[in-house]
Amino acid sequence: FELFRSRFPAERSRPFAETDPGTEGARTVTYGDLEALTGRYANLLADLGLKKGDRVAVQVEKSVENIILYLATVRAGGVFLPLNPAYTKAEVEYFLTDAEPHVFVARPESADGLREVADKAKVAHLLTLGTHGDGTLPEMAAGKGTDFATVPAQADDLAAILYTSGTTGRSKGAMMSHRNLGSNALTLHKYWGFRPDDVLLHALPIFHTHGLFVATNCVLLNGSSMLFLPKFDADQVMGLLPRATVMMGVPTFYTRLLAHPGLTREATAHMRLFISGSAPLLADTHRDFSARTGHAILERYGMTETGMLTSNPLDGDRIPGTVGFPLPEVSLRVVDPETGTALGTEEIGIIEVAGPNVFSGYWRMPEKTRQEIKPDGFFITGDVGKVDGRGYVHIVGRAKDLIISGGFNVYPKEVETVIDGIPGVVESAVVGVPHPDFGEAVTAVVLRKPGAAAPDEAAVIAVCKEQLANFKVPKRVFFMDELPRNAMGKVQKNLLRDAHKDLFT
Ligand code: ATP
Ligand code: MG
Repeated sequence: FELFRSRFPAERSRPFAETDPGTEGARTVTYGDLEALTGRYANLLADLGLKKGDRVAVQVEKSVENIILYLATVRAGGVFLPLNPAYTKAEVEYFLTDAEPHVFVARPESADGLREVADKAKVAHLLTLGTHGDGTLPEMAAGKGTDFATVPAQADDLAAILYTSGTTGRSKGAMMSHRNLGSNALTLHKYWGFRPDDVLLHALPIFHTHGLFVATNCVLLNGSSMLFLPKFDADQVMGLLPRATVMMGVPTFYTRLLAHPGLTREATAHMRLFISGSAPLLADTHRDFSARTGHAILERYGMTETGMLTSNPLDGDRIPGTVGFPLPEVSLRVVDPETGTALGTEEIGIIEVAGPNVFSGYWRMPEKTRQEIKPDGFFITGDVGKVDGRGYVHIVGRAKDLIISGGFNVYPKEVETVIDGIPGVVESAVVGVPHPDFGEAVTAVVLRKPGAAAPDEAAVIAVCKEQLANFKVPKRVFFMDELPRNAMGKVQKNLLRDAHKDLFT
């Protein structure tokens, strides 16, 4: 917090965030407010008996008070633990009993229903926070002083526990230290050329590293401001682009903007930078966006456990279908999945990373931590990729999505790229499903463009046969209107595998 505060604008009346911008309920929170309110909230947390290292778990809707609570928690020496508001009572019970927070902050309307699980997890204080500064937390904080002596933090002290998205299995709590978060924020704001006069259009959720740390920390380090939206709405975003300079989004933001007739060069003329991450951005989306707006989307790659790892350059070629170069503080290598030895340029293998941004381990999962962080400090990301001759990193998928059919490795991305190239196809997802002879059978799920000339199953298979070795060709092709995605826009391949698991058995 003190790192951020040292960079707040001298003029504390400068805006930090405008909430519900462009609506009647618009409200501006200044840097002065931020300083005072984090002080009040931190005083409240300290009065509630929060000690260094204690967790503050939070399951609320997006609000600027939620950001204030994040900063107040670290000011008070606590560990911030945000939870997706979509989690059910049973899921919340898992997280609370796992994390044993001292304080749990819930939505005003959910608090009664969650009291039982909070008690079970021995939570000392259950507070509430609404979206407009309402709830028992702001009420109780209102009477507290604004001065608070920030609890000094060592670099290795925990600042947050962030649960992963749960795309490949049960979410794991990644323990993030002050060093992890601070170093990544310092690297990113510089790499992306953040300036005090930047205005970030913030439409991401803030229970995830992307919206909470990547976006917010870049703003805080420059005393910049943000237009803070409760969620992504294409009409609203289009209306605000003329006031913004930077937007961070997941790929679905960009496909939805492309579907908006108002997206033009003029409409995006005030913007300096569009950034994408959290899931692969289709090369087609990148090209279409450039053609419509003149802006080359900057794609970057990162994880909950590591913060951001690679990025396309601010100046220089932003290459569609790549995630750019390892960031200055990040060491990245591609290794052979069997032997663990480092591979050369253009060779596909597992991506491993090290750096001050890489987490220290999974909360209360020492075994899992030992499996995934090697003795030399490199973390096994579980992503499969390569580094090309120019040093750009390409992600071809996740190790867990790799298909082994008849003893041969099939990288889904390679098959998806061929299918996506067929006229009439929007996108595709290729998964392996159990097969009695082959072990797994390559199976494709395809999204077609509405209208004429869309290919059928036989046509998709025919094109794959022309372009791919036989073992990579899908045995079956299914069509869907939409791919199942989670809150971060990630395709949930586990759901597709489940849906088709009995296909060949
Ligand atoms: P879990 O670990 O619980 O299965 P998750 O890995 O989806 O869930 P996150 O930490 O939110 O949880 O996501 C990190 C993953 O997102 C990366 O490992 C990578 O697979 C994917 N990812 C992020 N950015 C990109 C990108 N630009 N291109 C491709 N994949 C990306
Ligand atoms: Mg993961």
